[in-house]
Amino acid sequence: MASHLADILHASSQDTTTHLQKTLTKSKSKCATSAKEEPQIPDPKLFTSLQPSSNHPNIGQCATHLALLEAFFHLRLNILKSSELDTVFNVQKVNKTIYKSKWRHSKRQPVKLRDPNWDEKRNIKWLLFLSIAVARFQVWAIKVNAEGIVTGTGQGMELYQLPPIDILMVWHAFLLNPLSFKKYCKDLQLVKLRRVLFPWPRIHKAINPRLSTFNYDLPIGASTWFRTTLNLKPDLFDTLKKASKLPVDSPLAKSLSNLAFCATQTTIEPTSPDSAPAIESLTIAEMASTPLFDSNLSLLTLLRTIPDFSSPSPLVSNVQRQSLFVDKMHRQLWIRSPSAHGTLSRAIDRYERFIKLFSLYPKTMLVPTLDIDLVWHTHQLSAEQYETYMRERTGRYINHDDTIQKNTLGNGMDRTANIWRVEFGEDYEGCRCWDCEVLKDELERDEEDVEKLVERVKSTVEYYRVVEIARRKGWEFLPLRE
Ligand SMILES: [Zn+2]
Repeated sequence: MASHLADILHASSQDTTTHLQKTLTKSKSKCATSAKEEPQIPDPKLFTSLQPSSNHPNIGQCATHLALLEAFFHLRLNILKSSELDTVFNVQKVNKTIYKSKWRHSKRQPVKLRDPNWDEKRNIKWLLFLSIAVARFQVWAIKVNAEGIVTGTGQGMELYQLPPIDILMVWHAFLLNPLSFKKYCKDLQLVKLRRVLFPWPRIHKAINPRLSTFNYDLPIGASTWFRTTLNLKPDLFDTLKKASKLPVDSPLAKSLSNLAFCATQTTIEPTSPDSAPAIESLTIAEMASTPLFDSNLSLLTLLRTIPDFSSPSPLVSNVQRQSLFVDKMHRQLWIRSPSAHGTLSRAIDRYERFIKLFSLYPKTMLVPTLDIDLVWHTHQLSAEQYETYMRERTGRYINHDDTIQKNTLGNGMDRTANIWRVEFGEDYEGCRCWDCEVLKDELERDEEDVEKLVERVKSTVEYYRVVEIARRKGWEFLPLRE
């Protein structure tokens, strides 16, 4: 029955654009009059389970994870859109002018054509931002391991202060490659860093869920700690934007534009005139122990640690691969869904069963669905806890490899789906859109009247869609439900 009802909902949501527009217009007249009166989406109750009660991920952590992924999504979008960063990194539009005559014998007129490679060219800013973020992460990791962690009460350690978002993003993507993170911590003797419990409660506090962009604001204490301990400005994006106002011959502006030049000329000849920028290599350990004087100088020193772009840092690639997952989560937008609680609790339940398959089918490559993958990622972010748990449950250390090619994944997905059906008698994949998820919530409630049930699902989802649109349009206050 569920799949039949889902078909009805999918079919009815095909023609909702004009209907939604009408509802939106109607909603304008019944908005909240204060922030207090507004609907709270996501529901604050989602986060009551935030404190780690066991070494298994819970709903609060998964919900915070979704909010964090939204913050990452918007950071990348803002970097790609930023004209200041176009300036800093010398990304230039080449508008072609062609001459065209309107009629057969009329005079030719100039017509400006938009640079067809503009969007592609602008992608370089993301690579450059990440390269700097990775350099910052490495300095942070060493410092945090040396002095920035306090021991928690239970197992695992707690971070003394939250890192800025660029560092958090590099760390996050690195943790999702458990084996390489483990090796890194071993090689650099970062024993404490690997024990850190991912700081979910503090991340939750730092993110503003009222904004459609889920801004992550570093608390003042963390900001001060970062500035005084690392002598770097906490907000990298802001620092780069401000660099666009510097004179072009200032050392920082020059260095940044050199870095950009290097990145666009990956096959650069070492002897070519003025192309090789003055980036001497400096090891991260040297960097971490260098006394630095002012923040710009410190960023300059940091830029010298960035390796050349012919072999991009694996830490940069981690974030780039992770961006695909971030985009997928943004499209689902479960964090704003009326059934966020249901979706996450079902996902956690399915993840539990997924782990079971690891011990039942130790030789099979198991491929997670999106919802299971979210919980799995959330689990991996507390590295040592994850390892302990997996060893207890499956007798081995389960790595997570997101570099596997698409066709291999496809085969793995089919195999996993078959195994799932055999073991649990249920479909593995399936639609997890808002309609389908609210429908699942309703069916769990055992409603008799199917027509009523479908109507209720439709009206709930419609209201949440309208709220989301209003939020994106920047309405002063959000619509209330009738
Ligand atoms: Zn659906």
